[in-house]
Amino acid sequence: MERLGLFGGSFNPVQCGHLLVARAALEELALDRLVFIPATESPFKPGQTLAPGAARLRLLRLALAGWTQVEVDDQEIARGGVSYTIDTVRVYADRFPGVKLFYLVGADHLSTLPLWREAEALAKLAEFVVIPRPGQACGPLPPPFHGRLLKGFPLGVSASQIRARIKQGLPLEGLVPATVAEAILNSGLYL
Ligand code: ATP
Repeated sequence: MERLGLFGGSFNPVQCGHLLVARAALEELALDRLVFIPATESPFKPGQTLAPGAARLRLLRLALAGWTQVEVDDQEIARGGVSYTIDTVRVYADRFPGVKLFYLVGADHLSTLPLWREAEALAKLAEFVVIPRPGQACGPLPPPFHGRLLKGFPLGVSASQIRARIKQGLPLEGLVPATVAEAILNSGLYL
């Protein structure tokens, strides 16, 4: 049975923590494919100003250039409005019946998971995989979700830290891929 991983988030911008999650997920979950799915707007961060969807997609494509088994899906950006994971996972379940779906979620989202739209239906469609984050408590998945914990390569970097560093003019080397750092600096994003 084919194994497909889904990795949703703001990716505002993509940073090396996200890439280490991808590497670990491909290997630990023996995935055939992993798809990054940037959101338009999180239901839990209403009104948050993100860089435009097209810019976040472009940075993701730069970051993932040359990766095999990894793709970027623009469906949540194309739909616009608030992005609900159930809508996205249903698209995959309908399009690829018989494929085993995994949904990656950071440990920082564990407490809100039961509040996600149509949690019961969502928990039936995909196995949830919790990504540990340094400094973040990592309990078991709350019902109705079932799944496992990724071991990963824990790295305490976040997109908010990257945005703060850009505002302060601090170096980004080692924290985002070089192509992404260059594109951000050239386009004046996050200043
Ligand atoms: P922000 O700082 O803007 O909240 P972020 O980088 O923490 O951004 P997202 O861009 O939404 O968060 O990340 C997508 C997913 O990747 C989320 O589930 C998040 O928990 C997870 N994630 C982000 N950074 C890391 C990291 N360093 N290690 C493990 N998981 C991460």
